[in-house]
Amino acid sequence: MKGLVGKTALITGASSGIGQAIAIRLAEEGCNIVINYRSNPDAAEDTRRIAMEKACADVENCGVKALLLKGDVSKEEDAIALVQQSIDHFGQLDILINNAGVQADSPSEALEADSFDWVLGVNLRGAYLCARETIKHLLAHNRPGSVINISSVHEIIPRPQYLSYSISKGGMGNMTRTLALEYAAKGIRVNGIGPGATITPINDEWTDNPAKKAEVESHIPMGRAGTSEEMAAAVAFLASDEAAYITGQTLYIDGGLTLYADFREAWS
Ligand code: NAD
Repeated sequence: MKGLVGKTALITGASSGIGQAIAIRLAEEGCNIVINYRSNPDAAEDTRRIAMEKACADVENCGVKALLLKGDVSKEEDAIALVQQSIDHFGQLDILINNAGVQADSPSEALEADSFDWVLGVNLRGAYLCARETIKHLLAHNRPGSVINISSVHEIIPRPQYLSYSISKGGMGNMTRTLALEYAAKGIRVNGIGPGATITPINDEWTDNPAKKAEVESHIPMGRAGTSEEMAAAVAFLASDEAAYITGQTLYIDGGLTLYADFREAWS
């Protein structure tokens, strides 16, 4: 896609699932990638290996490079270091993908404050910290750039028993729009994607169980869960110059989940 060759992208939580697929796809598009991981260097190394193999399928992108950085995005000092080390290594940072995310389920009346803080800390505070540091760098060098927030259909669909997750993604949507408006005139675009049910480790409670998977998929108008690669394709588009006039949007990639699936059949 236009405008990605030679750019540098930091992807948080890139050692698994959607983040891993995004890192691989951006490398295939010619971006240098910074693979952030919280605790599993071997999995991050897998991301690097696959990304480099795929990038080299196109000889022109064989020069792309990857950097692995450990860090907990919810900690301010880690978020600052992630952005700074990306810039120190590659000389620039053009694209931030706020992908790191966690969820916790509990009836809301029993939700522990520590659990609430953990989910908000990773999903929202972490995204804000990384965005703040990236935008600071772009402004200081008068560079255009792109921030992409990996939100969820639960940015707009309330999810009982996942109060902290729903709040974090709702907040993320507002962060997307607020930052987009604040920095539009500076050439910094801020967008998000809202994945529906996607086959990744965060969902292994139902992806590995055929009966539960069928139950989840019965609620999706297109009749199947999404893949990480489908999410990554939309991210590559939003990061590219093909999306040069798009800012402040969350693109839902959900097989129709946000279309009020209960209305599929006419109500009598
Ligand atoms: P995943 O569990 O494979 O990925 C989450 C990643 O975040 C992991 O690599 C994890 O190590 C990392 N992470 C967690 N805490 C971190 C921290 N403090 N600092 C840095 N990294 C941290 O699951 P996934 O489905 O790939 O999730 C990726 C994003 O997609 C999340 O933001 C999630 O909310 C969102 N999402 C997923 C789905 C889905 O159905 N899979 C749907 C909607 C949105």
